[in-house]
Amino acid sequence: MKVAVYCGSRSGNEPLYAEKAKELGEFFGNNGIDLVFGGGHVGLMGIIADAVLASGGKVYGVIPEHLRDRELAHTGLTELFVVKDMHERKAKMAELADGFVALPGGIGTLEEIFEVWTWAQLGVHQKPCAFYNVNGFYNPLLEMVKTMVATGFVSQQYLDMIVLAQTPTDLVDGFRAYAPPQEKWA
Ligand code: AMP
Repeated sequence: MKVAVYCGSRSGNEPLYAEKAKELGEFFGNNGIDLVFGGGHVGLMGIIADAVLASGGKVYGVIPEHLRDRELAHTGLTELFVVKDMHERKAKMAELADGFVALPGGIGTLEEIFEVWTWAQLGVHQKPCAFYNVNGFYNPLLEMVKTMVATGFVSQQYLDMIVLAQTPTDLVDGFRAYAPPQEKWA
């Protein structure tokens, strides 16, 4: 299995975020799960990539030229795909991975997970999407989506399709048990 991880290009201000990213990376490496990620060496991105590599796993990075040129790319990856722009990057990551998860992060992380979540809703792919909810990080966001369901903008099934994980085992079990929702406009 290849899992795309979207996560902060910073590490946050609590050591727990880095610890949980490292733990997840080690679990991937020890269980034959390959990592697909944004290709950077900074923040939680660098931490999880290093952890997967150090535990013998494979790591595929997908980085746009302009970030590579600023020397932000991780140089020790199994393979680094250098793409033209952010659009190509997201498409390539989505093609390579069998499932997607957001760890704590910022605006970039949200944008990436919401895109693949939207694609799942439209039936563009049938792959699972997850939030790795370290210390309740994503609770306020999930509350917002619950408001969208309550106000009739989102069907309950598109909230229910999300794998909400707090441990590596939750994540992988949730991915393995995943059944895609009905397409929105089918
Ligand atoms: P953010 O959550 O705003 O820190 O952005 C993190 C997401 O945006 C990552 O999942 C990456 O795909 C992308 N990203 C942001 N900064 C970088 C960087 N310096 N190198 C590679 N990817 C980055």
